[in-house]
Amino acid sequence: MDGFLGRVGVRRFLVSLALILATTLALAADAKYVRSAKSNKFHYQACTWSTRITPTNLVRFESAKEARAAGYVPCKVCKPPAQD
Ligand SMILES: [Zn+2]
Repeated sequence: MDGFLGRVGVRRFLVSLALILATTLALAADAKYVRSAKSNKFHYQACTWSTRITPTNLVRFESAKEARAAGYVPCKVCKPPAQD
């Protein structure tokens, strides 16, 4: 019984790990920049501040120029370019 439960636990752990990896890779390949629907700053995907944006407010986009045109300013921590 313990052995059975142990295997189920390991399997669930591996499935979770695979999901996390897939999500991380999908995010990395998805878009270059992110911004929050609640702020006027935009970031590189890898910025510490990007990770603090809640998924509901997270907006991904490809062009820094587009963000500037929409009135967003580059983050002072990760310093994304004003133009692509
Ligand atoms: Zn940033």
